[in-house]
Amino acid sequence: MKLADLFNGFLLDMDGVVYVGGNPIKGSADTIKYLKEKGKTVLFLTNDPRRSPSEYADKLRSIGIQASAEDVITSAMAIALHICEEHDSLENMTAYVIGSNPLRNQIRETGIKIVNGEEGKYADFVILGSHPDFHYDEMKIATLALRNGADFYATNRDPAYPSEEGHIPATGAILASVEVASGIKAKVAGKPESMIFEVALEKMNKNKIVMIGDRLDTDILGGKNAGLSTILVLSGSTKKKDLEDSEIKPDYVINDVRDLLKDIPAK
Ligand SMILES: [Mg+2]
Repeated sequence: MKLADLFNGFLLDMDGVVYVGGNPIKGSADTIKYLKEKGKTVLFLTNDPRRSPSEYADKLRSIGIQASAEDVITSAMAIALHICEEHDSLENMTAYVIGSNPLRNQIRETGIKIVNGEEGKYADFVILGSHPDFHYDEMKIATLALRNGADFYATNRDPAYPSEEGHIPATGAILASVEVASGIKAKVAGKPESMIFEVALEKMNKNKIVMIGDRLDTDILGGKNAGLSTILVLSGSTKKKDLEDSEIKPDYVINDVRDLLKDIPAK
């Protein structure tokens, strides 16, 4: 029996699982093709809202993986869907958004009006995502809006991410500054929080679901929190030594996604 036979639904992290940066991980396209041919549902989950679902689908197709925008769930999308579910109408509601254009667009599509400057200080929502041009004025407007009662959402709490220069500040660092200044904690959408999984599971509508990722503190912990089976791949940021040192233990550990089509490994 193959490992893949244990599951009907597959939630896959992207970077470190199907590609690393711009390069596909060997065999990922064939493996995903096989899963789909077997009638399994495959969704791609990412904390990174700097691209839209259709841009991620384009990237996946460019490395030979059949995917459409409907197959991709970003943390931005999770916030938008969550807010829609919580409110009967979003007419006349406003958001101050710190983040990328895809994040702004996703929020705009809900019907919420995005406001800036003076208006931003009285927004109904503050929504924070990854942002390389983060400025003190943004921290200030967000803080004032929150102190005026805005509802606070963030795409993820990732503290730093690897770059050619080393690990550089990510969304979690920006988020911390606004949380400290406002004294208010954001509701976070991305892994390991449950919001992104709730959206994914609703979309998937299957039993026997597995979360596959390359990070213990986001993918695997998030999958466990959501009550799913978990598989760690060693093709991304986690090495065997990190796994030994961590209290977070996945159900299965494989070298890369190709091993889904091999015999079930020992636990
Ligand atoms: Mg990853």
